[in-house]
Amino acid sequence: MSEIIYCWRCRIDIPMLTEAEWATLSPHLTDTVERIKSYRRQHDCSLQEAIEKGLGDALNVYERLTGFRETNPNALWHHRRSIYGPLCPSCGKPFRTPQARFCGMCNAERLPDQSRDE
Ligand SMILES: [Zn+2]
Ligand SMILES: [Zn+2]
Repeated sequence: MSEIIYCWRCRIDIPMLTEAEWATLSPHLTDTVERIKSYRRQHDCSLQEAIEKGLGDALNVYERLTGFRETNPNALWHHRRSIYGPLCPSCGKPFRTPQARFCGMCNAERLPDQSRDE
């Protein structure tokens, strides 16, 4: 199951994919430039529309996995739980990276036993 945690880039709480879910989604995020280009050739539409519809597969898969309708395919790249490290024991937001020593939000120090996550 995906886990809803704070996303540092989107600045909202959002479902982050587990590695198993990521394995399901990531094939839909390959060759994105080609997918967008070919959609645009076929439909003669704006770039924005081509991005949203040409990469609709990836958005649909993400929605099926999480129940959340994302509209920006580029955001899917970083909605992967494993890249954020454990949650801060103080504020509950994720440390920004698995290697981080301090919480990026409240500056709490990471405890040694907080590294168990994977
Ligand atoms: Zn995000
Ligand atoms: Zn914190």
